[in-house]
Amino acid sequence: MAHVQCNECGAAAGPLAWRCSACEGSLDLLDPPRFDPARINRRDFSLWRYAAMLPVTRRFSLGEGMTPLARATWNGRPFLAKLEYLNPTGSFKDRGTAVMLNHLASHGVDAAIDNSSGNAGASLAAYAGAAGLRATVYVPAATAVESKKRLIRAFGGAIVESQDYLADVYRAAEETTYASHAWNPYFVLGQQTAAWEIWEQLGGRAPSALATPVGHGGLFLGMYRGFKALGEAGLIDKMPRMIAVQSAGVDPIARAWERKSQTVATVRPSHSVADGILVDAPARGAQILQALYETDGFALRVGDEQILAAQKRLRAAGFIIEATSAAPAAALPQIHARIGEDAELVLALTGSGLKAI
Ligand SMILES: [Zn+2]
Repeated sequence: MAHVQCNECGAAAGPLAWRCSACEGSLDLLDPPRFDPARINRRDFSLWRYAAMLPVTRRFSLGEGMTPLARATWNGRPFLAKLEYLNPTGSFKDRGTAVMLNHLASHGVDAAIDNSSGNAGASLAAYAGAAGLRATVYVPAATAVESKKRLIRAFGGAIVESQDYLADVYRAAEETTYASHAWNPYFVLGQQTAAWEIWEQLGGRAPSALATPVGHGGLFLGMYRGFKALGEAGLIDKMPRMIAVQSAGVDPIARAWERKSQTVATVRPSHSVADGILVDAPARGAQILQALYETDGFALRVGDEQILAAQKRLRAAGFIIEATSAAPAAALPQIHARIGEDAELVLALTGSGLKAI
């Protein structure tokens, strides 16, 4: 079993903990297995081809991972699109949920809760169904998208609509297992597999730069840690420049990065069409900043009009994504200005637009 400890005070934590009970800091695995290409199971076409690098026992799977890396262009400039929206429930969240719930189930958990604006909740409900667990999802009464709530119910999940869903889920977490996509270290672990796939899909290389939408930053940090593990194994020469894209309405990471701060200050909650990344206080903000500084990366913000225009363009090009997932494409002019037009760039297309049609 992997050891989990607090990033702030170093206290050890149990297998079901979601944050440090002593200081409320975030948790991480102390000694995850090293990446070893010889241990990839090349006959498994899901993220479980990396099972040897994941300290989790697989009990159930919906075939998550191994999403395509498609070629695309923007104003004549090529980029690569990692189609995370083609995961089983239509979002990148499935990687983290699958790894996290397998871990929790192997420790006897039979019911789990999460708070979600939609995608994480749908993912939890689907995997709970696959595993024979009960799932309850706390959703924000004011802003949760109706079609995403229907999807959670269709997967057999229960919904609690709440005015202050974060306070309510924290209270409920004292009694039930909190399978938090924002906090649980096994969730971030699952996201690392996206980086390993990109490395394989590029023939054993890292791209020059990699952009994701960032709310809590689970995919962003997972990608960063995945490439870091490849670097530590001597399999890439250079880390990709990590690019965090936020909505202009809720942009705590972009603000902190501009100040060259080591910590993230909470911003005022606001509305945006990018409903999947409206996170005013990211659980792992300091780690996201560190990844930006370490990789010569940067954080950008884009407005609703740019996001909607980018979504329309990507859909017309055949990529059926939700608005949140168009944020990195909306930032492409800013990205190209910083990295140059010839740099090899991967954009993560994170959530399916089918849920909103
Ligand atoms: Zn602590």
